[in-house]
Amino acid sequence: MALRDLHLLGSPVLRTRSSNVETVDDAMREFIADLFETMDAAKGVGLAANQVGVARRVAVVDADGTRFAMVNPVIRTAEGRARAEEGCLSIPELYGDVTRAERIVLDAVDEQGKSFTLEAEGLVARAIQHEIDHLDGILFVDHLSPLKRQLLLGRYKKDHRGEDVIKPVKPDTNGR
Ligand SMILES: [Zn+2]
Repeated sequence: MALRDLHLLGSPVLRTRSSNVETVDDAMREFIADLFETMDAAKGVGLAANQVGVARRVAVVDADGTRFAMVNPVIRTAEGRARAEEGCLSIPELYGDVTRAERIVLDAVDEQGKSFTLEAEGLVARAIQHEIDHLDGILFVDHLSPLKRQLLLGRYKKDHRGEDVIKPVKPDTNGR
């Protein structure tokens, strides 16, 4: 396992529609292990492959005690609407309220290559929708009103002018 570098706002891969995974082989399992390790070190509740520079349809989630990898994820049904604050490891220190479906049914493939279905609500449902957005090249700021988005992104760009859009993640040294 290895920590992967995070791609931040401005890196073109975040705006790329990721391609389907054909087979879940050992290399893919190793990559998924890297995604988990990187998400944990960065203290995220989810991480999509393109956030570490790989435009494939795979992401990991760890929210409300539910931890899983999803390969080629598809939302089968979505109902209700809920509004809550979101952030993103690829846009550090920027937060905004996003309205999403409250409950979803997810179809995906796990790291063993087996299909599974997951019913989710609350934070888990939100994290799944946020990560699938990533795989389609969509960022949470795209869901904000144009005015709010302009304001936040203007401030972000000013604060991060001239910085690299690919950053190493520091190992989580908590408790050591
Ligand atoms: Zn994100």
